Amino acid sequence: MKKRILVTGGAGFLGSHLCERLCQQGHDVICLDNFFTSQKSNVEHLLPLENFELIRHDVTMPIYLEVDEIYNLACPAAPGHYQYNPIKTMKTSVMGAINMLGMAKRCRAKILQASTSEVYGDPEVHPQVETYRGCVNTLGIRACYDEGKRAAETLFMDYHRSNNVNIRIVRIFNTYGPRMHPFDGRVISNFIRQALWEKKITIFGDGSQTRSFCYRDDLVEAMIRMMNGPDEFVGPVNIGNPGEFTIKQLAELTLKLTGSKAKLEYHPLPQDDPMQRRPDISLAKKWLKWKPTIPLEEGLQKTIDWFKTIQLSDYRPPTPRY
Ligand code: NAD
Ligand code: UDP
Repeated sequence: MKKRILVTGGAGFLGSHLCERLCQQGHDVICLDNFFTSQKSNVEHLLPLENFELIRHDVTMPIYLEVDEIYNLACPAAPGHYQYNPIKTMKTSVMGAINMLGMAKRCRAKILQASTSEVYGDPEVHPQVETYRGCVNTLGIRACYDEGKRAAETLFMDYHRSNNVNIRIVRIFNTYGPRMHPFDGRVISNFIRQALWEKKITIFGDGSQTRSFCYRDDLVEAMIRMMNGPDEFVGPVNIGNPGEFTIKQLAELTLKLTGSKAKLEYHPLPQDDPMQRRPDISLAKKWLKWKPTIPLEEGLQKTIDWFKTIQLSDYRPPTPRY
């Protein structure tokens, strides 16, 4: 059935791919974005489509639309981006969630929240399971994002319990792929940009901290499955690729795949940087019949190939981070 679907943050890295997939499925897609960490070029190719509509709007402000489903992705996601204006980050997570949940309640729409592995903070439980309650420093520089996303999860559960809103919560682990902002400061975009255009690769700490990297197509598939899954499973559900790599291994793989001679350069580890991260995806396997299909080397190559096609001057470097 053709649905009217709102994607907040729809012009971003993940949002633009989600919009693309939903348009291909024949739905009427409304992409809402304030372009804080993205640009129109991410959805330019969708603009001519009859079933695609773009609205420049900030989710912290109320908006009235008639929709059947909402994917709530609006929020700066990279540390450099969300720390740029931390108070606005918290407002976006909390007020954005309230505004979108209000819309879902009024329209009786189903609503999915793009939450994050950051709700686990610097985890003492490894791999992370959904029942783990996390270890977040409420006072640290990452808290605007972590606590904002945790509060948004709480709001989702309370609208569900108190107002019967049909919700879904996915906890996304580090995801990468074409259309990442080349200056977002995330490790994959930094390493590829540095390997292709600069003479150094910046490793924070000694590079022994780990992350698990999921390719964007696998992620978008899981989000859509979760939205369309059974109502009794609202989540939270971990979505990510359980392959775990140290940051040093990632740097070496990037050098190998780009053929770059950039030198590894060591910098201090930022405050509260999690030392390990890997999703337990048993719930996603069970309820969504989903598991990632694209290994890091393959996805990294596709991402490198895309970076080679862009002009860095088309992107604004918004933060002073490397
Ligand atoms: P992104 O920065 O590319 O996308 C976020 C989008 O939201 C951008 O287009 C931005 O302009 C928009 N936005 C920000 N504040 C807004 C506001 N107040 N009003 C309207 N639009 C606003 O990042 P992404 O990686 O595509 O992340 C999308 C979502 O997924 C985010 O909610 C993020 O927290 C979540 N997530 C992503 C990852 C990942 O690794 N990519 C991991 C965990 C969670
Ligand atoms: N990182 C790094 N060099 C960079 C950017 C990031 O070593 O140029 C490290 C960072 O300290 C962290 C990991 O890579 O340990 C992942 O960072 P990212 O910002 O991509 O995501 P997050 O920390 O939110 O998982």
